[in-house]
Formats: sequence, structure tokens, C-alpha cells
Amino acid sequence: MRTSFLTLPQAPLQAFRLPWLAAAQVEAAILRLDLIDPLISGNKWFKLRGHLAHAHANRAPGLISLGGNHSNHLHALAGAGKRFGFATAGLLRGEPHDTPTVRDLQRLGMTLHWLGYGGYRARHQADFWSPWQARYPGWQCIPEGGGTADGVQGCASIVEQAQAQLAALGWADYDAWWLAAGTGTTLAGLVVAEAGAHAVHGALAVPRGHGVGQTVEQLAGSVGYQLHDACRGGFGRFDDELLAFVARSERHSGVPLEALYTGKALLALHEQVEAGAFAPGTRLIFLHTGGLQGRRGYL
Ligand SMILES: *Cc1c(COP(=O)(O)O)cnc(C)c1O
Repeated sequence: MRTSFLTLPQAPLQAFRLPWLAAAQVEAAILRLDLIDPLISGNKWFKLRGHLAHAHANRAPGLISLGGNHSNHLHALAGAGKRFGFATAGLLRGEPHDTPTVRDLQRLGMTLHWLGYGGYRARHQADFWSPWQARYPGWQCIPEGGGTADGVQGCASIVEQAQAQLAALGWADYDAWWLAAGTGTTLAGLVVAEAGAHAVHGALAVPRGHGVGQTVEQLAGSVGYQLHDACRGGFGRFDDELLAFVARSERHSGVPLEALYTGKALLALHEQVEAGAFAPGTRLIFLHTGGLQGRRGYL
């Protein structure tokens, strides 16, 4: 395994212009994690970095993780394996299913195991990893979504990347972050790095009951952030209003979005801005968490 992965690519910070932001006199910039790499996209790169460094230090022969059949996380892991020369295995939810993401995983050399739905539900049990550790001795196991202290640490550098580019945008400072939250790991990284200096708003792509609040609290404490409902009836659900909003936003801003995370997060921001949650003159950084490969699953 080569160690060039330890240097993270720089994500561009760009002006983000939408008519409803302008109308509310809210200024926004967008940190384009979708542009850091053609293969290893978005926040997943930041979350994986610590795990890769760990695997390298431990001379692990490979890495193994789990996700669904459109998973951006497995996609990024398989891409990193291919790029940096280590083996990968993916544990998938449900029965064997052919999706553009699954075909990519195979093409990138990831070994796939389908767990069924019951098998996947067992992923939080204490002994879940034992049979896989026996089957893949010495491999590094990454829990769902990369949600560990390693993942949080990697995401903290997202804040540095944005702050290094503020001056180029003509900004002396900003007021808050807005981003999509799935497991809440990326959000936790931002909260840790900000340490209260700027507010962090997480738009939940999953229902409240899914424990994101507890995850973020465990990883980053209970202050410095706010969670907003954004899932529109469930994780992975989309509806005509959402898709129309995403298409309109892409047209107006020139920024490609996928519906399930960044689209839902932007729609939740739209609702808050319309409700007057941000005073005129507020400066926001919207985090583009990437994931555009997943669009092929529903378009
Ligand atoms: C995985 C993912 C998220 C969620 O990240 P968490 O760290 O799990 O909260 C957000 N946006 C996109 C595009 C993703 O793929």
C-alpha cells in the first residue's frame, strides 16, 4: 500500500448563488467535496483516511466494510483500494442485486458478500465481526459509515480546508455550516474542529429515531450544533417536489447535487431561510458531501 493517501486533495470553496438566498440576503459558499477526486468522492474520502492510515500502520492486508447497494461509502472504499493497492471486501445489505454501484464495486476489485436483511441488521451486535475477522485475518474492519474516532478526525480537516480559502472569496469570516447527516460522523468532525467557534447545522437524511443524535453526542459532545429534520419520510425516499427542487437548484447554481443527501439538505436549508431563521447578512458554508455516483440508482 502506498502512503500518498495521507495527503488529502483540496476541495474548492465557491460562491453558491440561489435566488431564495439572495432574496433573504443570506450569502452562501459551497465547499465542493464532490470535486476532490474523480473516484473517491466527497466526505467518504475524509472519513476513510484515518482508517487507511491505521490499516497501513498495522500492515493490514485489506479493509472490509458494509453498506447498501448504492453505498457511496463502499464505492469510495473500493476506489481507494484500487487506487492505492490494497484488497477490499464489502458486506452488502439484502439479496444479490445488480446496480450501477454494485457493478463498479466488482470492477474495482472488491469482493462482495450479501448478508440478507436479517444478517445486515446484526451489524451492531458485539460478535458481528468475529466470523469476518476469522475469514479475513488481520484485515481492518470499518463499521457502517466509517463512524469512529478515526472517521471524525479525518473530517475535522474539512474545516481547515474551508478556512484556508475564505480570503479568496472576500470573506473575513462566516457564521455557520450547513450539511447533510447520515450517521452524523462528518457533522461530528466539523463540531470537534469548530469547538464552538461557528455553528454547525446538520440536516438529517434519516429519521430522528435512527440514533444520529446519540452518535454525534458520543463523538463530539452536545453543544455547538443543531439537527434539522430533512429526510422526507425516510432514508432513501424521494418525491417529485424534491427532484424538481434539485433540478431547479442545479440549473440556478451550476452545482450538481444528488437528491438523497445534498438535495434534502439544501431543501431543508431553503425551508429555514424562508422561515427567516437566518438574519440578512448571514454567511453560510454549505458542505457538498459528494455522492454523485449514487444518482445513477434513481435517475
Ligand atoms: C454518506 C453521505 C453523507 C452522510 O455522512 P455521515 O458522515 O454518515 O453523516 C452525506 N452526504 C453524502 C453525499 C453521503 O454519501
